Amino acid sequence: MQLLKDKILSDGRLLDGYVLKVDNFLNHQLDVALLDAMGAEFARRFAGVKIDKILTVEASGIAVAVMAARHFGNVPVVFAKKTESLTLDQDAYESDVYSFTKQKTYRVRVSRRYLVPGEKVLVLDDFLANGHAACGLIDIVRQAQGEVVGVGIVIEKGFQSGRKLIEEAGVSRVESLAILSSIADGKIAFA
Ligand code: 5GP
Repeated sequence: MQLLKDKILSDGRLLDGYVLKVDNFLNHQLDVALLDAMGAEFARRFAGVKIDKILTVEASGIAVAVMAARHFGNVPVVFAKKTESLTLDQDAYESDVYSFTKQKTYRVRVSRRYLVPGEKVLVLDDFLANGHAACGLIDIVRQAQGEVVGVGIVIEKGFQSGRKLIEEAGVSRVESLAILSSIADGKIAFA
């Protein structure tokens, strides 16, 4: 998606050589027009695929998922929670996810109320690095006996192994709006 690639080049910042900061349009401040265009692009790429619900993970996936849902006929969006809370049903699906950016494992949870057997679910997230976040969400959909019809990613770091992990988990449809082939020497290159 050219608009997104241009934005990454103009506004993205590289940290520690392997983390891309996109705080001013995706991870902190939100560029609503760009998010809307991303939603339209996901809808174009998954056209013809039946999608009952979108599943993402808090916090950065939410804006992407909500804007995309507008282009999928306002399907419901469910976001996995990262923190334990009294207000979350005790009866939740859970999966442990190793965080690439935080370098620690956290647990994601979705109430059993919001995923039901047989649902066709599109998993969306902001970044794909090693694939643990996406695979945690896939695991949760399967615990609920739903079907993951695809994974949509805003920015894929193609030089990491995330896509392979998702494919090994049995999901063949992975659509990324921008794929980075390298971020070496402070330079961003696209696949
Ligand atoms: P994975 O689980 O695929 O290793 O990492 C995906 C998650 O880590 C995403 O949900 C995202 O929050 C975070 N992440 C991984 N790499 C980056 C990066 O380069 N920049 C930012 N902003 N987040 C990242």
